[in-house]
Amino acid sequence: MNIAIDGPAGAGKSTIAKKLAKELGYVYVDTGAMYRAMALYFLEQGIDSTNEEAISAASDTVDISIRYQDGEQQVILNDENVNDKIRREEVGNMASATSIYPKVRTKLVALQQKLAASTDVIMDGRDIGTCVLPNAEVKIYLTASSATRAKRRYDELMAKGEACDLAAIQQDIEDRDYRDMHRETSPLKQAEDAVLVDSSEMNIDEVVAAIQKICQEKI
Ligand code: C5P
Repeated sequence: MNIAIDGPAGAGKSTIAKKLAKELGYVYVDTGAMYRAMALYFLEQGIDSTNEEAISAASDTVDISIRYQDGEQQVILNDENVNDKIRREEVGNMASATSIYPKVRTKLVALQQKLAASTDVIMDGRDIGTCVLPNAEVKIYLTASSATRAKRRYDELMAKGEACDLAAIQQDIEDRDYRDMHRETSPLKQAEDAVLVDSSEMNIDEVVAAIQKICQEKI
């Protein structure tokens, strides 16, 4: 059994998917973390995000794998656990810029498909229902307005005591949406058989309940 959750940045995919995975006893696979690990490698190698040739060559040699520790996904980049490092803003921006390249995507899609073949997964990302797991039993397209997503991110950063600007966050989210939705290789879009969930006016528990209901109906 596989559940695919796609949607734009900041829609709450990972929070929701983690909760659902616990409740249903599935393994949660965060595919964004894999694109971030690749991006971290490109940054460490000093490769420019516009240099497709160098990025494609580096994609061939880098080793990315996934382990689970106390039920939490750990991303291993060339033998190093990079779970904390990949959360940096700079790494997220690099992931957004380099996930457009076919070589990067082919490598990570293969890893994602291998994980889903061996166990029941809830996998979140941008192309899970359309490309990685086209036969997933349940497909959800989780979205929210860019204003709502920006406000959630702003509140998160403020709670951590980090200075930030709401308008700049919203602009960044809209730029990412544009790049994800307009790239040539597997752009972000709702799969034809995915159920749309707009969380703009919903809290976390309401979204989890709504998706659980969809899963019960489908499975
Ligand atoms: O979800 P997260 O923000 O961690 O993903 C980082 C970046 O990786 C995204 O901005 C997106 O461009 C890319 N990504 C992707 N396909 C996926 C998951 C993430 O292109 N399945």
